[in-house]
Amino acid sequence: MANTMSGNFIRFIPENININFCENTIEQILNMDWNNNVPTIHLSEQLLFADAGQYFESAKCPKCDFNVTEWWGSAMDSAYSDKHGFLNIEATTPCCGIKISLHDLNYHYAQGFHKIMIEIALDSNCIAVIENATFKLLDITGAKWRIIHARY
Ligand SMILES: [Zn+2]
Repeated sequence: MANTMSGNFIRFIPENININFCENTIEQILNMDWNNNVPTIHLSEQLLFADAGQYFESAKCPKCDFNVTEWWGSAMDSAYSDKHGFLNIEATTPCCGIKISLHDLNYHYAQGFHKIMIEIALDSNCIAVIENATFKLLDITGAKWRIIHARY
């Protein structure tokens, strides 16, 4: 994460991390009414992780709701290699021993992996912008999007 980045950001990532969108769809996303905000689209061949920055509080097991925040840090380290980035993000939870994607933990606030991320810097109209964008993104892409509030 670049040190120069500070402030509040809203990020949209698809719930399905392997989904692909054609250029036409991405063009439509950029041309949506973003209420004078300028969206940045981050496209990557590698899986990246969008975090909540200072908003991050906890990661919990989706099956038993156990707080796995401590374990999560080491699971993220294990899933990452300098050479390949995040390749295999499956891990076995320490509480109930289920194999799960690190994308599917219950993060508070929301976080997740992505190959495409749309980002806007937060402004005062943010709630209306978020509601509108979430609706339009679903409409344009047919995909469910995860909203990430991040602060640095
Ligand atoms: Zn569990």
